[in-house]
Amino acid sequence: MNSIKAVSYPVHFQDKGYKELSNLISTNNYSTIFILVDENTFDLCYPKFIPNLETDKRIEVIEIDSGEINKNLETCIGVWNAITELGGDRKSLVITLGGGVITDLGGFVASCFKRGIDFVNIPTTLLSMVDASVGGKTGVDLGVLKNQIGLFANPEMVIVDTEYLTTVSEREIKSGTAEIIKYGITYDTKLFNEIKNNKGLNVNDLIFRSIEIKNEVVLQDPKEQNLRKILNFGHTLGHAIESFYLESEDKENLTHGEAIAIGMVCESFMSSKLLGFPSEKVREVKDVILSIYNRTILLKEDFAAIMDLLKHDKKNVNGQVNFVLLNDYEDHKIDCKVPEELIIESMEFYNK
Ligand code: NAD
Repeated sequence: MNSIKAVSYPVHFQDKGYKELSNLISTNNYSTIFILVDENTFDLCYPKFIPNLETDKRIEVIEIDSGEINKNLETCIGVWNAITELGGDRKSLVITLGGGVITDLGGFVASCFKRGIDFVNIPTTLLSMVDASVGGKTGVDLGVLKNQIGLFANPEMVIVDTEYLTTVSEREIKSGTAEIIKYGITYDTKLFNEIKNNKGLNVNDLIFRSIEIKNEVVLQDPKEQNLRKILNFGHTLGHAIESFYLESEDKENLTHGEAIAIGMVCESFMSSKLLGFPSEKVREVKDVILSIYNRTILLKEDFAAIMDLLKHDKKNVNGQVNFVLLNDYEDHKIDCKVPEELIIESMEFYNK
């Protein structure tokens, strides 16, 4: 598979990635290589990765606890302390080996350490391959508020090796599928139809096409002034729902993709009411999503808390919640204001 040239870094696939990584390390003469993992990627991915790393540099592994709940500043401080105690300097390289939590947090940690050291992303979940590891957004949550602290920073390269997916649970594969559906709805109807018809899907092709789309969008609008906002489709309400489940001790957390999938159904409904997005397409989006994910009934008594979390979305300006909605597939409108009653109606529509 050919590499994809992103903004200022390449995305390499399979073995080629490891060769390029070895070249990068020898060319830049890094002092130490820090590999950031969680306990799952240490057990399942590190043994696959390490034989591919050809270097005589010092290697240190830093492990954090897995899960969104640990994507916070406290964990970053722990990693910064570990890098410092292990003698990290400005010529250190961080390799993030994990899902979106590791690539988001690791990229942020590297970009802030001594005002920025190099990092390489090696995503190990479907979601992080198709979305989180590409595009230059790094950061962590503040309490349960998603991605409130962070910055744009590009890795030196991204290496996508689908071998890592062999140990990813079906639930996490479905989580990544939500972001591929998002690309289909907002940017590539052919891709959406392929998922809808679920025939002869090849995971390598899906990943390659998803990264191509993300890259095309980010290249045109790296700082999310306009087009890039389409990548937030389903995420405005989706993030509030994800946060709500994170903070509710009596409820099982949703995966990122499960929450975004609910968000896409609701935001399709809002689009039909406000922009005339065809109602048969709302139905289609809902059907595709409910064919992949079990319905999570959103309880009426939880609506107020979800609405409250929505008010903290990063895209809000002057306290106004800004949605990206659809006129049609592949045709979006940014900065849409949605009346509170319609947001609630959209959650009731999803529940039905
Ligand atoms: P994750 O990193 O929490 O991974 C999910 C689970 O899979 C974890 O328990 C992890 O330990 C485990 N895991 C990882 N690789 C594995 C493997 N190969 N085999 C077995 N288990 C493995 O979450 P995720 O779903 O990968 O990513 C979600 C995060 O990505 C969210 O924080 C979201 O906000 C972020 N995100 C960021 C962007 C961006 O542009 N930066 C885009 C989309 C999502």
